[in-house]
Amino acid sequence: MCARKLLLILATAALAACGAVPESSRRAPQSAPRPLAVNPDTQMCLAGLNDTGSRFSALPDRFDGPGCAVTGAVQLSAVRGDQSQLGVSNIGAVQCRTAQVFAEWARFGVDRAARQILGSPIARIETMGSYTCRNVAGTERRSAHATAEAIDVAGFVLADGRRISVLGGWADGSREEREFLRVVHASACKRFGTVLGPQYNAAHRDHLHLEIGGGGFCR
Ligand SMILES: [Zn+2]
Repeated sequence: MCARKLLLILATAALAACGAVPESSRRAPQSAPRPLAVNPDTQMCLAGLNDTGSRFSALPDRFDGPGCAVTGAVQLSAVRGDQSQLGVSNIGAVQCRTAQVFAEWARFGVDRAARQILGSPIARIETMGSYTCRNVAGTERRSAHATAEAIDVAGFVLADGRRISVLGGWADGSREEREFLRVVHASACKRFGTVLGPQYNAAHRDHLHLEIGGGGFCR
């Protein structure tokens, strides 16, 4: 390569680097990820979720058949407690507004209750997932899980290593563990439209079903 040509290439690269070359004359790199097309409501929700201190990434919309769709959803990996981040395991896609209410519940309803009742903050909330394309058991009606608007919470791991599960702790835990589970259940009822736990039916003996919609059904 001749020196003049090399100089020209270097000069062009330098101009591009400082923004002097117009956008249209730059070639986009082949591997550049295409940004998600996000509607304004979702965008506002994502900003609100970000304000809660949660760690998440926005997911592309998907449609899996009649009544089954994930739109404006996120992959949540952690939410903020008062003193540190709380991990969230096994959760999958969650609709943004549901994730936002979950993050607020985790901090103000769960982490604080754990410190007051059990003497340790929460390290991780264990879930049994969110999105599944299915009906409410025994009905023809789509579950809130079919639109990623419900989360099933199975248990809580404390910073001191203890693990309190809904299955083991609701009826058979220590007095403090039983109290803690009832307090987090009650605070979920203040924030979510539908909350179902072990006292609802046997299908919920091992988790709390937290759902945005439903207008105040708390069992
Ligand atoms: Zn559920």
